[in-house]
This record gives sequence, structure tokens and C-alpha cells, in this order.
Amino acid sequence: MKNDKYIPVIGLEVHVELKTKSKMFCSCKAEYFGEKPNTNTCPVCLGLPGALPVPNQKAIEWCVMIGLSLGCKIPLFSKFDRKNYFYPDLPKGYQISQYDEPFAINGSLKLKIKNDPFDKTQAFGSEAQARRGHPEQSRTDEKLKIDEEKIIRIRRVHMEEDTAKLIHQGQDSLIDFNRSGVPLVEIVTQPDFESAQEVVEYLKKLQQIVRYLGVSDADMEKGNMRLEPNISLRINDKELIGKLPNYKVEVKNINSFRFVEKAIEYEIKRQEEILNNGETPAQETMGWNEKKGQTVSQRIKEEANDYRYFPEPDIPPIRFTQDQISKIKSQIGELPEEKLKRFQAGFGLSAYDAEILTREKPMANFFEETIIVGKKHNVNPKQIANFLINRDIDINLTLPAQLIQIILNATQTDQIDEKELEKIIDKVLKENPKAVSDYKSGKQNAIMFLMGQVMKNFKEKIDAEKVRILIMEGLR
Ligand SMILES: [Zn+2]
Repeated sequence: MKNDKYIPVIGLEVHVELKTKSKMFCSCKAEYFGEKPNTNTCPVCLGLPGALPVPNQKAIEWCVMIGLSLGCKIPLFSKFDRKNYFYPDLPKGYQISQYDEPFAINGSLKLKIKNDPFDKTQAFGSEAQARRGHPEQSRTDEKLKIDEEKIIRIRRVHMEEDTAKLIHQGQDSLIDFNRSGVPLVEIVTQPDFESAQEVVEYLKKLQQIVRYLGVSDADMEKGNMRLEPNISLRINDKELIGKLPNYKVEVKNINSFRFVEKAIEYEIKRQEEILNNGETPAQETMGWNEKKGQTVSQRIKEEANDYRYFPEPDIPPIRFTQDQISKIKSQIGELPEEKLKRFQAGFGLSAYDAEILTREKPMANFFEETIIVGKKHNVNPKQIANFLINRDIDINLTLPAQLIQIILNATQTDQIDEKELEKIIDKVLKENPKAVSDYKSGKQNAIMFLMGQVMKNFKEKIDAEKVRILIMEGLR
């Protein structure tokens, strides 16, 4: 794509629902998944006249925490605004959001873009790459890859309330207010992405960060995280770097990383065709239709002033002190990036292994707990990492001490004469055609007989499970 006639210019808005106990401006329960419709509501979140919103302090702190984790500045002054529009899921006729004074601004997130070294058009000499500096070569366990780093600038992180949920059933539309007023954080990037892959990489990182912070489950299927890319194309010309095209297509409310990837790729192709015909794509809002595999127009894009934003009169502006911000900052634990570096430096892991082990916090914690147990048995972190990554260990069903035992058992039997063992297995399979055909016709027990034969012939002590796996491989 990058050596083509056009370069994609993509920005992203991500909505993340916070998992606070109560809603944003009332004391109703915020968790709505699986709840009976319209059971967690009150005059505030139903938008009844005269009801007064009271901001949820925890939600504001968590929003600031997300901002800080993305390297944002936290202005000492911020406020809530009313965003006016009419839709049945918004009973007040406006949404409480933030307009010109959000909680966090000007952050960034660094991506590692993995390139296929054999795809020369991507890895070398592209104009986009020239802007990013030289590619960094790094050797991972599996193969040589050329990684480049790319900074995505974060424009703002602000707080708002979720809307009610519309459910369409045939001719009818039903409405559930349980979701109305659930705390929602919106994270807006600059239009710095140039491909769907970069967007997905960013989304994975963002999801990982909010999960590490413990402020959201960021579960796509439950709608905890909703994605809105805006896409346009500019002519591939050095003179035009940094200049934005004169149109932009926004795709609303996507709830899967795969769909966002498809939607962006579809839009790039669609817009390319329009531009090649000498026309300009319309500035519009679209939706992703997964069944058709295409974007569909929803409405011609509104401008910010169509919303007639004005300060929310029922909530006083928020003023932070530097002390309060530092306090929130101190609640942020180790983030994925730092953990990854520490795992590499402290435990001698490769970037590849460290990345897998820090992808999710429970796995990282389990790994570190196992290291402590391993020390007493001379099992080193590298061995533990290998087992966790290669042997499909279910950390929810295994204790650190059990994993160490598994490693000890396996390393004892790993020192056996493998060639000799294979020879014996071959011999046993040849000499027992009846047992082999029994097994192949579905008599599972036949394998026990074969295992017994192998273990009888093999002089060293050996793990029965290992024998079983090798015999099954031999039978394939
Ligand atoms: Zn309520």
C-alpha cells in the first residue's frame, strides 16, 4: 500500500466503558451485562426533568489514570459540557461529555510494527518509513524480523456517559436504560495511522493498558470497547506529508478488531476507486455491515457546531491540584511496556518470550510467582518461560509449585537417549501389528499395551506420558 499512489490517513476514536460500581452521574449499578432490562435506573439516568447529576469521583480518577498511562498532560482545569443531539437512546436530548477542556491531552503511544523482511516494499525505502527513522533490527527466537517503531499521537482522553441501548425486533425498537449513564472514556488519536495493521496493533496495546490498570475489562463482545476509525487517502507526495485530505469518512461503532481491520481495508479500496475517477469521496458517517463485508452509509457527517456544545450548568468545573494528580499517578502499577523490559533485563528473556508472558497480567504474575518457587529447586526463569509458552499450561488450573514439579519431571526424562527410545518404539510398533490395528480401529486401550512394551524394553526411567505421545506420533 505504501509505495502506491495514495497513502491512507487514519485516525481513531475508542470508547472504553469503565467498570466502576456505580454509573457516571448517579448511584445506579454500572454493570448491565445480562441484567433484566430497565432494572438499574433512576431519575438521573432516565433523564427525568429536575434530576441532578453528581459526578463519579472514581470514574474521573480512572479517566485521568488512562490519560497518564498514555503520556498525556492533565490540565489543572477541566469541565463537563452538554453535547446536544436527538436520538431515542438519549432521553435528555443531550449527552454529558467534555468539549474544549478534557481531562487529558497530548499523549502518545509507541507501536512496534512487525514487518515481513521479504516484503521489500514494506520494509525498505518507503516514504513513510523515512519519516520514522531507521529500522531497528532485532532477532527474535523464531526468525529475523525488521521492526520499526512508530509513535501514535493521542489528541485527548475525555469522560462522558454511555447512552441507553436500542434493541430492534422486527417492526419494534425496544430500549434498555441499564446502560444509560455508564462511565465511558473516549480516547482520540491524531490521524497518524497509515494502515489497518497499525490500527490493530494500537488497539491491542490500548486494550492491554486499560486491563493492566484494572479500570475496564475491555471485553469486545460485551461492548466494553467500541471503535470508530476515520479514513481518508492523500496523494503519495512528499510535499503533502502532514497535510490532511479535504474529506474524511468515519466508520461508527465497530466492536471487533477484525471488523475494524476489514472496514479500513474496504474503505481504502473504495476511496481509491473514487479518487482514481477524479472525484472526491463524500464526507460521511458509515457503519460496517459484516454480512455484506462492506461499509454502508449512515448519514452525511455533522460538524462539531451542529451539537451546540455548552458547559454543563449542573456540574461545577473540576480543578485538580498537582498533588492530586501525583496521587493518581502513584496508583498506576507497572505498565506492560515496563514489565516487558524488566522481564527481558531481569530474567534474560528474549523480546519474543517477554512479550508473550506480559501480554496479560495474570500470566505475568503467575510467571513471577513460579520463579520464586523455582529458585528453591534450581529451575531458572528461562526454563519456566519455555514451559509456559510451549506446553500450553493452564495457569488457572495449575499452581506454581505444580509447574515446577512438571518441569523437574520433564527435565529428568529429557536426558534419556532419544535415539534409542525411537528405535524401540519403531520395533514395538512393527512387532505388534494387532495392537496397532486395534488402536487405529478405535480401541484406545491398545495404546496401554504398546506403552508397556516400550517401557519394558527401554532400560532408563522414563515418563509414561512422554512415551504415550511418541507412540501416538508414530501411529500417525
Ligand atoms: Zn441512575
